[in-house]
Amino acid sequence: MADLSDVGEKIAVLAGAAKYDASCASSGSTGRAGGASGAGAFGVSAPAGVCHSWTGDGRCVSLLKVLFSNVCRFDCAYCVNRASADVRRASFTVRELVDLTCAFYRRNYIEGLFLSSGIFSDSDIVMEKLIEVARTLRTEAGYGGYIHLKIIPGAGEKMIREAGIWADRLSANIELPTDRSLRYLAPQKSGGVIFGAMGEFSALQGQFEEDRKRIRSAPAFAPAGQSTQLIVGASAEDDRQIINLSDALYRKFSLRRVYYSAFIPPGGPGQGVPDPRLPVMTGPPEIMDRAAPPRHLLTREHRLYQADWLLRFYHFAAAEILDESSPFLDSRLDPKTAWALRHLEFFPVEVNRADYEALLRVPGIGAKTARRVLETRRSRSLTFDGLRRMGAVLKRARYFITCAGTFIDRPEDPRRLRRVLSDDEDGLQLPLFEF
Ligand code: SF4
Repeated sequence: MADLSDVGEKIAVLAGAAKYDASCASSGSTGRAGGASGAGAFGVSAPAGVCHSWTGDGRCVSLLKVLFSNVCRFDCAYCVNRASADVRRASFTVRELVDLTCAFYRRNYIEGLFLSSGIFSDSDIVMEKLIEVARTLRTEAGYGGYIHLKIIPGAGEKMIREAGIWADRLSANIELPTDRSLRYLAPQKSGGVIFGAMGEFSALQGQFEEDRKRIRSAPAFAPAGQSTQLIVGASAEDDRQIINLSDALYRKFSLRRVYYSAFIPPGGPGQGVPDPRLPVMTGPPEIMDRAAPPRHLLTREHRLYQADWLLRFYHFAAAEILDESSPFLDSRLDPKTAWALRHLEFFPVEVNRADYEALLRVPGIGAKTARRVLETRRSRSLTFDGLRRMGAVLKRARYFITCAGTFIDRPEDPRRLRRVLSDDEDGLQLPLFEF
């Protein structure tokens, strides 16, 4: 199929092809206006290709999310751009992408660019194209917005170094949680290569930080860190394997974020014929929208994000969230409540005496509220009303706390507690699943 030449058509194809990548959010960046780009930088940090993403502090940001090219030599079964898919192909030129990004940015359509690509040539050559876009934006166009570049699998250390100088964030997608699944569904990819890129990023980050301690004018290296994406539901791994992997990634490579992306069953408009290696999912039409993930996978994705939150902000160990006997997250309960119901002996927590770690374990008390509790206790005792004003969700917390020795509700029969604390059933109808 001939490559497209019209930029408008290219945006339609290459923005559509990029929407399956969830690993973009501009958390942790302070922007570079007047920084890397120097004097004359413009803009602040929706048309086709603009997606919305949430930062670590809850801000909603808009990004131009596109591929440089959807021509790809690899044949990953879950991907609409795989070599064997019969889809329209297109590639931008560097100049087209620079102009497009600047035009969107000047009109305040976007605060940043998320750029990935199919592997249309040698990995370093593809990576060099992405770098060229970022470098031209920073050095020639005066662009001060956010840039997130994908690390192309197999790109060398030199390329990662160069990419980190111009981009705010880099990401190498793992996509599947085990080498076994990668070999089956994405045979040209390897866990070793992807982890190698993450390791190189970490080492470079350390080197640049050291340099900046000694030389204040030394360049920053990807100040918003690195992230990755895992597809949920395209392979047979359970939630425990996924959470264990995320935990290891946070520890080993100091990843800022692991993004979980519910698998979209193939066969939607413009996606070509489904690859026979993928799981077959069937179910009632109302829950099997081919343009979106099935609802049970969206629920799973949501619970994984909640579990991830426990790892990053609530000091939970992966083994506390799931174990061999229960390898999947409970679809009806958020994982913190599920832990509390398995450990009723830990409660009640007396809010006037408990330490920070104990407060963090209470369903309905978040990290911010726990800090406020400690602060307020220095000058006065707490009441339930005061707790509510600090942001505690007493509808949940009431079964797990005492205030000056008093309960709102005494913990009762665990089965009844489970019922009251369960989320509603919307989205939990399970389609049939065959691997
Ligand atoms: S490398 Fe795999 S996931 Fe990436 S664009 Fe090519 S086929 Fe898709």
